[in-house]
Amino acid sequence: MTTRTTGRYKSSTHRYNAYEAVNELFDKAADRLNMAEELRQILKTPFREIEVAVPVRMDSGKIHVYAGFRVQHNGARGPWKGGIRYHPEVDKDEVRALASLMSWKTALIDVPFGGAKGGVACDPMNMSMTELERLTRKFTARIAIVLGPHRDIPAPDMGTDGQVMAWLMDEYSSRRGYSPGVVTGKPVSLGGSQGRITATAYGVITVADAFYKSRGDKLEGKTAAIQGFGNVGSYCAHFWHERGGKVVAITDVKGGVYNEKGLDVPALFDWFKEKRTVAGFPGADVMNNQDLLALPVDCLIPAAIGDVITPDNCTHIKAPLIVEGANHPTMPEADEELHERGITVIPDILANAGGVTVSYFEWSQNLTQFYWDEDRVNQELDRKMRKAFMDVHTLARQEKCSKRTAAMMLALKRVGEAEQQRGN
Ligand code: GLU
Repeated sequence: MTTRTTGRYKSSTHRYNAYEAVNELFDKAADRLNMAEELRQILKTPFREIEVAVPVRMDSGKIHVYAGFRVQHNGARGPWKGGIRYHPEVDKDEVRALASLMSWKTALIDVPFGGAKGGVACDPMNMSMTELERLTRKFTARIAIVLGPHRDIPAPDMGTDGQVMAWLMDEYSSRRGYSPGVVTGKPVSLGGSQGRITATAYGVITVADAFYKSRGDKLEGKTAAIQGFGNVGSYCAHFWHERGGKVVAITDVKGGVYNEKGLDVPALFDWFKEKRTVAGFPGADVMNNQDLLALPVDCLIPAAIGDVITPDNCTHIKAPLIVEGANHPTMPEADEELHERGITVIPDILANAGGVTVSYFEWSQNLTQFYWDEDRVNQELDRKMRKAFMDVHTLARQEKCSKRTAAMMLALKRVGEAEQQRGN
């Protein structure tokens, strides 16, 4: 047992390494598929990992050298695809884990991409726009050699947004010529797609809706607690509210709010615009991240950082449904316990696949230079999310396993087949 000392989970009693954790999920599914050891090795091992120094001149005049990573995990089904994360806790193991999850996510939602992830260990909240721009341009310059519209296509992730993608595209295009397809999640004015900003949350709420429908029930009137009010969390609140559900609690890095009758989500958006936090929103009680997880709601949506549902706190969870907006919010040991307790977890590679799905739409719009309206984007997204949900739901029933294991089985089968067909 090794202890993860630099990560978010500091317990000394539980082993934690994000990449090992993902591989544990991998093995569970591979065992059910009776996958040969050789193929397991091929599928588990990242194709290429790059680590670069990113020296940036700060506004103070001093140079700070950041560590940057790009891991290309598996490219059997198409160009590598995955976000770039700016966060102080980015390290190689986490980027590997996230890259691997992207390989399974793109296969499960069935878009013609492989899986990758990148990151820079930095604190974007405490950097100026000019510092962020210099950091992005330098990082892009140093990894440009492995990027390209038919090679590896980054996108936003935690701590990055459309502006960061615009700088990335500009830096890449200044070397190789106009290349909008080298990155997704760009501003619409630069070839981004309608509906990309809301896509991840739209997908999260669509699978929640599909879950209720599969039981002859409906989302309307259901209560939700959402951890996180960034891109995913905030729009999850928006869509849950729009579809007639009640959002009773939301937390962000600075605090949280609770109202058992349901929060006024549009008013909360206005509040957030001014205060940059949900904390202090009038007409609501104070809520913290741990208590939010234990609320007796119909649905819990972790939509912030990873590793928040731990073996220690999962026993307090009362929600019968967890929809994972974030990447790997649930540790494997906790996941097992939740499954045993009959709590349904809609796993990250299914629940938050809406982002990469609309990234695929954006990329194909860039290659064809033919642009879609938002209705078409959302319709196609809806169709893909519901199909993947039903595939997972059906297999989980057949196999009598969790939805996570079923999702991994479907993904591994597809990537494994592609690897073998390519002769590897
Ligand atoms: N960063 C997002 C994810 O984790 C989106 C990736 C993409 O669009 O390539 O799925």
